[in-house]
Amino acid sequence: AAAESTVTLDGRFAREFAEMAIPWRAEEVPDPRLLVLNEPLAAELDLDPAFLRSPEGLLMLIGNRVPDGATPVAQAYAGHQFGWYAPRLGDGRALLLGEVAHTDGQLRDLHLKGSGRTPFARGGDGLAVVGPMLREYIVSEAMHALGIPTTRSLAVVATGRPVQRETVLPGAVLTRVASSHLRVGSFQYARATGNIGLLRRLADHAIIRHHPSAAETGNPYLALLQAVIAAQASLMAQWMLVGFVHGVMNTDNMTISGETIDYGPCAFLDAFNPAAVYSSIDEGGRYAYRNQPLVAEWNLSRLAETLLPLIHEDQEQAVALAVESLETFRGQYSAAWSAGMKAKLGLHNNSDDDAASTLVDELLPLLQESPVDYTSFFRNLAKAARGHAESARRMVLDLAAFDAWTERWLALKPDADAMDRVNPAYIPRNHLVEEALAAATEGDLDPLKRLLDAVAAPYDERTGLEQYTAGAPEDFGAYRTFCGT
Ligand code: AMP
Ligand code: MG
Ligand code: MG
Repeated sequence: AAAESTVTLDGRFAREFAEMAIPWRAEEVPDPRLLVLNEPLAAELDLDPAFLRSPEGLLMLIGNRVPDGATPVAQAYAGHQFGWYAPRLGDGRALLLGEVAHTDGQLRDLHLKGSGRTPFARGGDGLAVVGPMLREYIVSEAMHALGIPTTRSLAVVATGRPVQRETVLPGAVLTRVASSHLRVGSFQYARATGNIGLLRRLADHAIIRHHPSAAETGNPYLALLQAVIAAQASLMAQWMLVGFVHGVMNTDNMTISGETIDYGPCAFLDAFNPAAVYSSIDEGGRYAYRNQPLVAEWNLSRLAETLLPLIHEDQEQAVALAVESLETFRGQYSAAWSAGMKAKLGLHNNSDDDAASTLVDELLPLLQESPVDYTSFFRNLAKAARGHAESARRMVLDLAAFDAWTERWLALKPDADAMDRVNPAYIPRNHLVEEALAAATEGDLDPLKRLLDAVAAPYDERTGLEQYTAGAPEDFGAYRTFCGT
């Protein structure tokens, strides 16, 4: 109890945005059992791991014991889902417990996923199951280790509650940490209320929490839009460079902070295929790998629409300013992606920029037609920069084209060590994630812990971890991921 009193949760969003926050309680969990705790993250938040592991701590992690003064809320938001507007989504199975201070001085949201039905649950049961919550834990921690902005995972607690899906599965609650849960959909919701005062407060809150320099400009709300555009252009480039497919880029799943959020049917490319789609519900391929920057731009246009009343009192002027800002997205994205690709090829400091760009342009079709395993190819290419081309060469189909390309690339003196600092050896490969989740669902957490150890240091190749760099076994087949579990 003494340790518990050290956990201080602010209720800032709950207090300041009553119009968008319904006070609510997590469902009682019959038999909480800690599956995984992120001790380094706990330390960053000044939370005592020993307390979090204690019975009292577990109750806090699942929202069954709320620190004094905290007000858990279900947050309201709207969103475009696969292009269709839904005016009222909101946290159907999630709660914002409150904000905690990070040792970096900024606030973080402490949030639950799978904590029971809320007034936003519609037909859903409000629950989550062990496999998908551990998937979010693995993938978000891998993204963080890769240096990609993301929400984090503090813990997954099994509830002991059976959850009906296609079969009956064990229930779980994920404790998520994010720099906030403000989404494009939060602004859509605020704007749709017609309460411009609320919209302005939300924008002010977003500026303070995420983009404080916007406040110092002549038009803070336009600057906020521009800051989100910049953050998302950068994020999209990072997803594309690492081969991440989010899977469900609805506007309610796109943050104002620029963090990756909501790991549902996500996956990493194995074979390089720009058209890759993994989600079983994305039948039209709207959220295919190659479409992600375009979708982000579309989502940002929806954000811009919500901000128009704040950007200028003359709405025609507001539109002109918003469009001008949105038009910078492509250039910012391309610049970030090109710089990242050059870095992947060890040509970051190369003075001959045109030659480097040409090499990038010529490489991608080669990767696609083979097709190569996207992650291992770049790792093997660094070996080619060290004089051992064989492992990369073995991966491609058109050897003559590869040899000609390699010769021109080597002439630019690529930096192999720099390549290994940006091309991961370890990503949460789809088949490894599935293996770890299947074992965990059966009660064996060892494969999960080993996979977490591998992806926690993605650039640092270690002996004994060879199985984590290999592609999927032949019998793994076409990978399909599922939402809403
Ligand atoms: P997502 O596809 O995860 O972004 O979720 C879209 C919406 O569905 C959000 O409003 C979620 O809160 C809600 N939702 C997803 N799964 C459930 C569930 N099992 N019970 C209640 N609401 C859910
Ligand atoms: Mg969501
Ligand atoms: Mg989800």
